[in-house]
Amino acid sequence: MIYGVDIGGTKIEFACFDADLNKLESERLATPVDDYEMFIDTLAGLVENADRRHRCKGKVGIGMPGLIDAEGRSLSANIACANGKKVAESLAARLGHTIVIENDCRLFALSESRGGAGQGSRHVYGAVLGTGAAGGLVIEGRLYRGRQGIAGEYGHHPLPADLRKKYQLPLLRCGCGLLGCLETYITGPGLATLHRQLWGEEIEIPALVQRWRDGDPRALNTKAVHLDLLGAAFANLVMAHDPDIFVLGGGLSRIQEFYRDLPGAIENQLFPGFSAPPVVPPKFGDASGARGAALLALTSAPEQKIATDEN
Ligand SMILES: [Zn+2]
Repeated sequence: MIYGVDIGGTKIEFACFDADLNKLESERLATPVDDYEMFIDTLAGLVENADRRHRCKGKVGIGMPGLIDAEGRSLSANIACANGKKVAESLAARLGHTIVIENDCRLFALSESRGGAGQGSRHVYGAVLGTGAAGGLVIEGRLYRGRQGIAGEYGHHPLPADLRKKYQLPLLRCGCGLLGCLETYITGPGLATLHRQLWGEEIEIPALVQRWRDGDPRALNTKAVHLDLLGAAFANLVMAHDPDIFVLGGGLSRIQEFYRDLPGAIENQLFPGFSAPPVVPPKFGDASGARGAALLALTSAPEQKIATDEN
């Protein structure tokens, strides 16, 4: 049995998979964000109950927002109590299981590369575009972590100077602490900020998308500027990694126009004669968190002993 645990800022999704990665069951609990002991207790309880139900000691993979540093420490703004803590180590000490942990956007990429929308491609870049912009590169089925686990943070590349000048965009302070990250304009909240900067209007994303589909000139302008910025972000990725495919995830991956328009926008920012790879929607989408965590456990944790009946 393999347990994939997707920890979000509000909910924990706990899913049990068989060795072929078929999801057998899943449950959701509220994430304790203020009390680390309660946070670990909640996770341990989910694992222990599942072990009891399945009469085994399952492998455990965890996905979390924020960075996991080389020492295994979480750096997460969403789950304050876990900030600076070694979550996998705490849980392993409590349970006696081997626990693997990774950033949730990297796990999205891993999940989509294996059995997902990137299946069959050697170099898959999974790019989550929702409240944040982060992703991961999977090379021949293996997640590329880099030296300290920050490979994949494409949202924190700087705004290109030419586009910033062309559209007179101010440099905004990003949540990461840097100034002028692409993330401040390309994510869901970033798209709303962009529209406000360009037109002085507050708007929710579904309403903005509806307005550009209805042909509203202001909304269409915001869409065009956003596409230019997104094209630049992905062109950076092409120049760094030259992936075979981009799989989009997160809330903005539901905007169908990206799949048609983004390759051209990427090529506008590349050298002449070089092409953008296909940009495709996810197969698993939001379910990729738990599935990717299970995949990580399946591929990196050593075999666990099967517990005997008296357990
Ligand atoms: Zn940033």
